[in-house]
Amino acid sequence: MKTPLCSSSLDHKLGTCFDWVTTQLDSNEAVLLVSQVLGVTFTELHTQRDRLLAIREVEQLDSAVQRRVQGEPIAYILGSTSFRNLTIKVSPEVLIPRPETELLVDTVRQLTPSTGRVLDLGTGSGAIAISLTKEHSVQVVAVDIDPRALQILAKNCALQEVSIEMVQSDWYSNVTGHFDTIVANPPYIAGHDPHVDRGDLRYEPRLALVSGPTGLEHFNEIVGSAPRYLRPSGWLVVEHGHDQRDAVIRLFNKHGFSRVQHRKDYSDTPRIVWGQWDGR
Ligand code: GLN
Repeated sequence: MKTPLCSSSLDHKLGTCFDWVTTQLDSNEAVLLVSQVLGVTFTELHTQRDRLLAIREVEQLDSAVQRRVQGEPIAYILGSTSFRNLTIKVSPEVLIPRPETELLVDTVRQLTPSTGRVLDLGTGSGAIAISLTKEHSVQVVAVDIDPRALQILAKNCALQEVSIEMVQSDWYSNVTGHFDTIVANPPYIAGHDPHVDRGDLRYEPRLALVSGPTGLEHFNEIVGSAPRYLRPSGWLVVEHGHDQRDAVIRLFNKHGFSRVQHRKDYSDTPRIVWGQWDGR
């Protein structure tokens, strides 16, 4: 069924249009979408209900609602999302940062000295790199294979007024030097997983989501080569898929990491593994 348009039937007042959007979308999404598209605060949605909208504003709302109804992630429609306390710009060239990845940032913060040097592999929008730089004042080198991702990172750095060293690199291929911590949220979904053809994931870059046949392929390279880029007693911290914890722990052990630990995410799913390189 075709979605009705706000512009076709209503009086074009903010209140009426907002009410119409709530009939099309989940109420939290309706609030987010209308406030951001029109540039009004949550309070103004209620206090300025009689404000007459320009035709252009109504058309923008229509277009945003249509895109959402067709399944496009709200973060791509709005061009940004929230990560920790930051607004992070996103585009279809980068993964939308997930709440569980906020825990990866917490883990890195706990392990890294505040003057430390961190390597963020597969940075995408830069959500991890920017959070660490702002919250923990560590020095971050952010790496991505896709130059378009580095362009988004550059925009996010400008927005957040931080400076981060960026390197276009296939994992470690163009990385030099040694780090206190290496962090990675690599593509870890198995190629045959039907999950990537559903919901929001359909719109996200496969390059950032899907690994090889098992989903573990990128961990081999990330874990196997990490010792060459870690300072003695440095840490490697990775996010992984819901059923990959034991395989990732085995990889850490195989490559000589000690004090290997893991934690679950907010939905009680195994999600993060880390271990220390003792410099042997
Ligand atoms: N956690 C994401 C998902 O399953 C995948 C992120 C990734 O591949 N790094 O939706």
